[in-house]
Amino acid sequence: MSAQQSRLLIVDDNEMNRDMLARRLTRNGYLIDIAENAKELMSHIKRNRVDLVLLDIEMPDVSGLDALKTLRETFTPVQLPIIMVTAKTQSEDIVKALNLGANDYLTKPVDLPVALARIGTQLSHKKAQEALRESEERYALAARGANDGLWDWNILTGRVYYSPRWKAMLGWKEDEIGDGPEEWFNRIHDADRQRVQEEIAAHRSGSTPHFESEHRMLHKDGTFRWMLNRGLAVFDESGGTLRMAGSQTDITERKVSDPLTGLPNRLLFVDRLGRLIKQARRRKKALFAILFLDLDGFKMINDSMGHLTGDQLLVGVANRLEKCLRSTDTVARLGESFTVARLGGDEFTVILDDLKDPNDAKCAADRLMKALAPPFLLGGKEVFTSVSIGIALSSSSYEQPEDMLRDADTAMYRAKSLGKARFEVFDADMRASVMARLQLETDLRGALERGEFRNFYQPIVSLDTGRIVGFEALLRWQHPTRDLVGPEEFIHVAEETGLIRELGWWNLQEACRQVAEWRTDPKGRDLIISVNLSAKQFLQANLVEDIRKLLHKLSLAPDALKLEITESAVMTDPSAAVEMLQQIKSIGIRLAIDDFGTGYSSLSYLHRFPLDTLKIDRSFIRDIRSDGEGLEIAKTILPLANNLRLDVVAEGVETAEQVALLRQLHCNYAQGYYFSKPLSAEGTTALLAVEPSWQMCEQVR
Ligand code: C2E
Ligand code: MG
Ligand code: MG
Repeated sequence: MSAQQSRLLIVDDNEMNRDMLARRLTRNGYLIDIAENAKELMSHIKRNRVDLVLLDIEMPDVSGLDALKTLRETFTPVQLPIIMVTAKTQSEDIVKALNLGANDYLTKPVDLPVALARIGTQLSHKKAQEALRESEERYALAARGANDGLWDWNILTGRVYYSPRWKAMLGWKEDEIGDGPEEWFNRIHDADRQRVQEEIAAHRSGSTPHFESEHRMLHKDGTFRWMLNRGLAVFDESGGTLRMAGSQTDITERKVSDPLTGLPNRLLFVDRLGRLIKQARRRKKALFAILFLDLDGFKMINDSMGHLTGDQLLVGVANRLEKCLRSTDTVARLGESFTVARLGGDEFTVILDDLKDPNDAKCAADRLMKALAPPFLLGGKEVFTSVSIGIALSSSSYEQPEDMLRDADTAMYRAKSLGKARFEVFDADMRASVMARLQLETDLRGALERGEFRNFYQPIVSLDTGRIVGFEALLRWQHPTRDLVGPEEFIHVAEETGLIRELGWWNLQEACRQVAEWRTDPKGRDLIISVNLSAKQFLQANLVEDIRKLLHKLSLAPDALKLEITESAVMTDPSAAVEMLQQIKSIGIRLAIDDFGTGYSSLSYLHRFPLDTLKIDRSFIRDIRSDGEGLEIAKTILPLANNLRLDVVAEGVETAEQVALLRQLHCNYAQGYYFSKPLSAEGTTALLAVEPSWQMCEQVR
């Protein structure tokens, strides 16, 4: 308490005395309040902080002594120091005042240095007393809060002292637990026991400075509690352990709750779910469900509005989920109890226990979705979110909580892929498709290792000359038991798993090697090879450099290679795409936009990209009859493409009529079954050998 902060109250009926003292003390750094009489003193002290009172003994109506008496009924001399101010002659009153509990006195006329000294003494005494009281309180608090159990293990006798608190933490009374080490070790969770023993051994052998271990201990009530055990060993001269002693703290709360929302975390959730699964296996009929919730577009909110807002949203969601499930009608209808947990990120889970009907889980999901529909007010802004929910119903086939959680997760993914903001119940079909997908993933890796992929080649034909100008390389899988498998069946899985990088690279290398070979023959001198590039490959940092090295190794001219990229691959991050495309272009490789018209279908962005070719998707070519809609589209695309100096390849050309129409529209190139299906490498070599040329007819029927 510095002088600046101390507030003194001067009580004196004489204005001149009062003001003079006030002015002098103010100059010495005190804050001063004034009261003219005892009545004002009382009312002031009720409403304001006062550190010390300077009280005049002689006042009309109520004297200073009477006021002192009243104050001491409420405040001790430590809580409120009171210094009496009196005339020199009134020594009798001084004695009375000291007896009534005054801390000290000053005589008038007040000698300032004396006054400052006495005021200072009283204030510092008060401060010391207060500090002492605080520290005593803190000590008492600490003692009360000492929740730790103590243990002291005499290694020589093999006996362990467990404090009463240690036993109480596990639900046992003082005389219910003995003094053997097994009282501790037998209560450690099976999954943790060996680790704890290793941790103790590590400390006893001197390889850790102290023993510290977090593990689960069995409580009398049958549940496991998380304990933090810390201890130190006492060694003899030869390094053997004499004793080991330490403390045990219950850290269950910290261990099992999510710090942001206060909800149970994954650990607790899995634990509860595990217990439910066990119970359900015992009483066959019990029905329960878990709901796996994932917010839609949370990453976008987090990125655009900041993590703080993201956190607030998660807290808001947590509250609504709990509130929604707690509302009495919901619980009455849906089951006996529920648990809401946060698994991490924007993933929440709900256990609905004791359901009467499987449909109750759907009702709950529906309610939860509705509860999250109104906007959240975060930092003055309205934020909307929706949620995708996967539901897994209890079944005797579940042995581990993780299995059930995984199925709910799978159903949630299904809900996402069906358009988000909806729920899906996990079923056997979903399991089958997940299994099939997993199998396919494994098979694809194997196929790549065993070299079961092949490239097929489909000619691209000039509509002016009717001659082959190049080929598109298309992947096939020479399956050991099935026939040739087309890319439609496996490319998407390869893309999702990232295997496309290796697979695509294989395809690119092989296609380049093949065309380099064909180009050594004069008949194939100018052939261009088109290779499909998936979005994942496209974003690889070292792609351009790898291709450059490959072309160099094969002595293949860069303009003999054309990379086909889909609109979506460039549109997810157009500015990164521009850079990548420019790099590719800078080494002389050609670029095509594949399946044009199926994606963003916007020519307006195309001028930003350094492209050579546009491939019109075969869905437009299919109905390009003279009265079809496809014709209109081709009519719009072709002049624009010509303006942008882009070549156009029509995909999926199957009839002479299509060829004729495309020629009328000045389309340069075509690819399709009309000319040839994709052929094996040998088939293609044979085709090239005959130098095919297709008749171009102008006639449209
Ligand atoms: P795409 O790049 O648009 O390839 C053209 C597809 O149209 C090929 O199917 C081809 O066989 C088919 N096609 C050609 N002419 C006709 C026709 O006249 N009528 C009909 N109905 N279809 C025709 P395919 O070989 O099954 O390839 C399908 C897709 O798989 C390709 O579409 C491409 O997106 C992808 N793909 C193929 N190989 C690779 C590869 O090595 N890497 C990557 N990333 N994707 C590939
Ligand atoms: Mg293609
Ligand atoms: Mg295509």
